[in-house]
Amino acid sequence: RVRAKIVAIQSEQQNPVFMIFLFDLTDIHKGEEIRREFFANVSHELKTPIAAIRGYAEIIQDMPDILKNEIAQNFLSVIVRNSENLTKLIDEMLILTGLESGALTLVIKPYNVNAGFTRVIENIMPKAKQADVDLLADVDPEIEEIMVDAQRFDSVLVNLVDNAVKYNRPGGVVKISVRQNETHHIIFVEDSGIGIPDNARIRAFERFYRVDKSHNRLGGGSGLGLAIVKHVVQAHGGTISLRSELGAGSVFTIMLPKTPSKKKIDLLTPF
Ligand code: ADP
Repeated sequence: RVRAKIVAIQSEQQNPVFMIFLFDLTDIHKGEEIRREFFANVSHELKTPIAAIRGYAEIIQDMPDILKNEIAQNFLSVIVRNSENLTKLIDEMLILTGLESGALTLVIKPYNVNAGFTRVIENIMPKAKQADVDLLADVDPEIEEIMVDAQRFDSVLVNLVDNAVKYNRPGGVVKISVRQNETHHIIFVEDSGIGIPDNARIRAFERFYRVDKSHNRLGGGSGLGLAIVKHVVQAHGGTISLRSELGAGSVFTIMLPKTPSKKKIDLLTPF
């Protein structure tokens, strides 16, 4: 997009001189478009749970005697669940905004992989049991530690393993493992779940993107998890990629440089 401005300058000669200024507005328009899309997404995501909360609350309000009733208890659990989803969504939006504004400071220290994997598995275990999904960890015995921000990296793994359980099937498996080559530690999160279609593989990392909106709505997913994961991995100087086969499962692969780039992060010196 270009905006043109024509200015006529009175010259000493007879003929006026015209100057044409051209302004390239492409980036400004792109930014506006992204902002518009973001606000449209946010409004939509906020409106759905708020409509449910309001609707059920109004029913209860109109019928004071209903509170003793079992149906009212169901209505109340819808209200509580939707309020929890809203809180989670707003928390994730704040995290993502912080990450995108570059305000993220990582505290990079040696991270014990065995202990980290155990923490993550313990965190997701109740959900996995409920979904009848097995959680496995496989750590190369030669790798004891990787260099990451423990709190951020735990949240990356929790997000990926949580998805791997959520988009799985009863009797399915999720495996987290770590390997290494000369330059990188490589972390895999594999599942035997529903898989991701080819056309959605790149988009899965976009904020608010969900492959199947109706299915995920039940799980309460905000569509922000993978966007956050990608930002945190990149802030470590790493990359994340995805291989997937529809109906067979997905593998998320994180490549982390063994020597983190000093440009982006504050290294905590051991002294
Ligand atoms: P959500 O909160 O919806 O889970 P994410 O950003 O974590 O959002 O993931 C985006 C979308 O990618 C999900 O809605 C889902 O459709 C798809 N997805 C993520 N992980 C997996 C997986 N392990 N298996 C299948 N689909 C997945």
